[in-house]
Amino acid sequence: MTIHIGSGRMPESKCPSCGETLSAATGIAKDEIPVPEPGNFTFCAYCGGLAVFTEGLELRFPTQQEREAAFRTVKELFETEGKGHNV
Ligand SMILES: [Zn+2]
Repeated sequence: MTIHIGSGRMPESKCPSCGETLSAATGIAKDEIPVPEPGNFTFCAYCGGLAVFTEGLELRFPTQQEREAAFRTVKELFETEGKGHNV
């Protein structure tokens, strides 16, 4: 498995937690170059709040189900740390 990290612009959007304007994202993904897609989750660079990309790549609060899925994904990424992945 390879973990990729990539940055790119996204439409300006306000963080649903703190209200700061965000216009770029850095992604981490397994086995693919990360590009924000509707339904992906992200963390705000200002407050660390969890948010989800909408169809227009704006940000909204996650549902409880999305929140649980995001935490499972982050846990999996931490568990692979140091096990020979390429960054
Ligand atoms: Zn925020």
